[in-house]
Amino acid sequence: MKDVTKLFRPNIANLKAYTSARQTANADTGILLDANENPRGRYNRYPDPYSTEVRNLYSDFVGIPSSNIFAGSGSDEVIDLLFRVFCEPKRDCVITLDPTYGMYRVCADINDVQVISIMLTDDFQIDVETTLSACVPDTKIIFVCSPNNPTGNLIREQDVFALCEGFDGIVVVDEAYIEFAGDISLAKEVLGYKNLVVTRTLSKAWGAAGVRVGFAIACEEIIDALNKVKPPYNVPVPSQEIAAGVLREGFDVTSILSERDRVKSALQMFGLTVLPSDANFLVFKVPNASDIQRALQECGVVIRDRSSMPKMENCLRISIGTTYENDRFLTELAKLLKKVAFIDRDGVILSENQIDFQNDSLEKYEMLPGVIEGLRKLRKEGYMLVMVTNQDGLGTDSFPEENFWLVQDKMIRDLRDVGIEFDDVFICPHFPQDNCECRKPKIGMVRKFLDTTPMNYAASFVVGDRESDMELASNIGIRGIKGELNGNFLTTIANA
Ligand code: PMP
Repeated sequence: MKDVTKLFRPNIANLKAYTSARQTANADTGILLDANENPRGRYNRYPDPYSTEVRNLYSDFVGIPSSNIFAGSGSDEVIDLLFRVFCEPKRDCVITLDPTYGMYRVCADINDVQVISIMLTDDFQIDVETTLSACVPDTKIIFVCSPNNPTGNLIREQDVFALCEGFDGIVVVDEAYIEFAGDISLAKEVLGYKNLVVTRTLSKAWGAAGVRVGFAIACEEIIDALNKVKPPYNVPVPSQEIAAGVLREGFDVTSILSERDRVKSALQMFGLTVLPSDANFLVFKVPNASDIQRALQECGVVIRDRSSMPKMENCLRISIGTTYENDRFLTELAKLLKKVAFIDRDGVILSENQIDFQNDSLEKYEMLPGVIEGLRKLRKEGYMLVMVTNQDGLGTDSFPEENFWLVQDKMIRDLRDVGIEFDDVFICPHFPQDNCECRKPKIGMVRKFLDTTPMNYAASFVVGDRESDMELASNIGIRGIKGELNGNFLTTIANA
């Protein structure tokens, strides 16, 4: 077993902690004239420096002796104290496994300690080999967050053990969100691994973020060092009282978990990718994430933009709130996601002749019935209008460009004259045998549009007269509306 005391900064190992007379006296019955307190007042006395009652209650909850538990002013204080116990400013370094909780780096910066950032794998697990080989003699702490903020997933425990065994420093596992992941925790492992510190908090599942109580669970030597370094009275009397009450009452995360499932399904219905979550938050991907976050904030829904973090491109994080709050979020988000009508041209907007299937002269030009009324209706309902059309052989001798544009430009003009414009027009000029990536039913034509447009997949559709249009719809992951060849457009989209 490692002697963790050798990892303490020398000044901390030699530190004589601040003591008060109260620690050696009977505070309940004594005449207390030792601490220059006021004899009167609701909160006239300093708190118990060791939060004894709170720690005893937490000890019952986690099944670890209270001598292995330290109580801090939130787990953020614990994180800072760990730096102050183990990391020599300007010399030592720590490892963060990114993307992860930002306070590890902020605390490192405050304490003038270097950070080595190692990426989590693509499924947000630890790359154990890379992490261990990044350790240098002055690496003192590896921070593991499980479930990880902001990715939401649990970290495999065998990887944490591999770090504990392979690393000659401290492995901190931040379990702020662990209660949402079920009845699991690495807390008891501190009895076996002397270099393991598990941090916990009352801020999440226990619903007491405002009380500011968090814990470190570790071997007694580390707990003693934390007690020496902390401010003498780090958890206020009201916080200790309320925390004790909260711990007696217990917590219930069932409604948060069921809301998490509901919000996740709703986001997936919109067609958004949602990361798996073992925590009380969800991460979803949406094109133009930062704009969406800002727009939500403008209508009073505040969520977190995580898109600038590594491996978190276009990711937004939402904490699970009450049913009402989650519904507000979903409603406002739905308004921001674009409903898109992808519209085929020939046989749907313009009449398609059944001889050469080519609209290459003004004689063949005919706008189909119901087009103007139908496009107006879609616009009124908030749809983006996007034309997607295959024009086989466009630009070849049999279908010169100018003939195509004669017709296309007239259509655009005629529609503009009645106030209708397409938001985008995508044209594939290839033959089927060209095997291009854009020809319907492939989605090459609209891929960039899909990647850059926050789209409501549940409300969007493709309308066309061919089976390939329906296949395009299914390849995009939206509804297909099949119209009759050269039919009435308004009738076709009547049930859109
Ligand atoms: N760890 C993680 C991973 C967190 O996300 C947070 C809060 N956002 C904390 C610790 C800090 O919690 P506390 O309120 O206990 O300081």
